[in-house]
Amino acid sequence: MAFRLFNTLSRTVQEFVPVDGAGRNVGLYCCGPTVYDFAHIGNWRTFVFGDLVRRYLEFKGYRVNHVMNITDVDDKIIDRVRETKSPLGEFTARFEAAFFEDLKTLNCRLPHHTPHATGHIPEILALIGKLVERGLAYRTPEGSVYFSIEKYRAGGGQYGQLVKLNFDQMRVGERVANDEYAKEAAADFALWKARTAGDGEVSWPSPWGPGRPGWHIECSAMSMKLLGPSFDLHLGGEDLMFPHHEDEIAQSEGAALQPPGQPFVKYWLHGAHLLVEGKKMSKSLGNFFTLRDLLAKGFTGREIRGLLLRAHYRETFNFTLDGLQDARVSLLRLDDCLSKLREVAAQGSATQQPPGPAAGSEALAALTEQFTAALDEDLNISGAWGAVFEWVREANRRLAENALNGPQAAAALAAWDKVDAVLGVGAPAEIAVPPEINALLEARQAARRAKDFSRADALRGELKAKGWLIEDTPKGARVKRV
Ligand SMILES: [Zn+2]
Repeated sequence: MAFRLFNTLSRTVQEFVPVDGAGRNVGLYCCGPTVYDFAHIGNWRTFVFGDLVRRYLEFKGYRVNHVMNITDVDDKIIDRVRETKSPLGEFTARFEAAFFEDLKTLNCRLPHHTPHATGHIPEILALIGKLVERGLAYRTPEGSVYFSIEKYRAGGGQYGQLVKLNFDQMRVGERVANDEYAKEAAADFALWKARTAGDGEVSWPSPWGPGRPGWHIECSAMSMKLLGPSFDLHLGGEDLMFPHHEDEIAQSEGAALQPPGQPFVKYWLHGAHLLVEGKKMSKSLGNFFTLRDLLAKGFTGREIRGLLLRAHYRETFNFTLDGLQDARVSLLRLDDCLSKLREVAAQGSATQQPPGPAAGSEALAALTEQFTAALDEDLNISGAWGAVFEWVREANRRLAENALNGPQAAAALAAWDKVDAVLGVGAPAEIAVPPEINALLEARQAARRAKDFSRADALRGELKAKGWLIEDTPKGARVKRV
């Protein structure tokens, strides 16, 4: 079935048709972190959204080349390097390592390429050179290079493809040095920033004098190097639409490396903002969370991932601690159902037979179809979760009625595994119980065998305090998360 996505370029939901004529390879570029601090939960919403797009494309059978840049030089980083008096590489390495650790905690698939801005200075200089050569960029007396919006438009370039801009208000030839600015301040933007005293050691030689790249040009240079001058999908938070992505289009299409009639990017996807407890996240309001802050409160990566995946990517999402609790409860319900299905599947087909033909497993195996139908429609994640929890209800009903045999349970689990290759929230049964909990369970069993019931009770209490309940089943004791 066709996969349809909302393309910011056309402002419509469009069928996804890859640039690759064979319809198999897909290039996906996600704007990555600026490694000057720990990423916050709003950033993580976008990265988890990127992971959902990647996983779903792979689920659909595409071979995805996923690129995510690491911005390891920019205004904010240089300020911090100056404050902390640490070398640039040392400063950014720490936050980059933390970023990849967090990415793993949230069970995001690692991008195939994670290029660094500082590792691509020659490509960046070559692209700026091309723009200068084409008359679209100019050097200022102090040795910076700016992109001329006027020249770009005069040559037929369209500035304002993602956002509507009022060119009557725009003052021609005015320049903006900062990487981030509002739509109303749209002006010629910096491709290369001449070295200033405040930059310290952070500069590279260039044909225009020593300096460093602007933020926008790095994404153009690295995406086109790794995915070609015209590729499928470019993704980021909606705050990147302007100026970052608009400037990327201008630079990349201004360099005219694309085959005739081909855009720099075919589909632009933007994830909406995240509020925390109903308000814009801010340190002064006390609602600013990094992933680590939430882990310190006792939540797990999969619970946080589960919550971040709850709302449609184009809707503003209100992230709350109560929501995290709900995500925990939902996942426990799911885990409980999966572990029961695993037990029935492990028993094989001989022990139980469903009572009649109506108890076939078709309804459970239909999970993947319903799930796919929802996600095909611009990643309708609510519909996808709806299919999952309907499946859980149905599986639980059949389990309670003893109306599932081994192969049916195994088929239901196989359907779940396919779906979880996209959601990435399933806890494999074997790692669900930490070793220290298993050791306590063992000790409790040993105490019972030795008829030391007070010790057995104490161990049961200890397990409960750690959040695990003992269940005595015909197959022996096991633990379950409270
Ligand atoms: Zn970018």
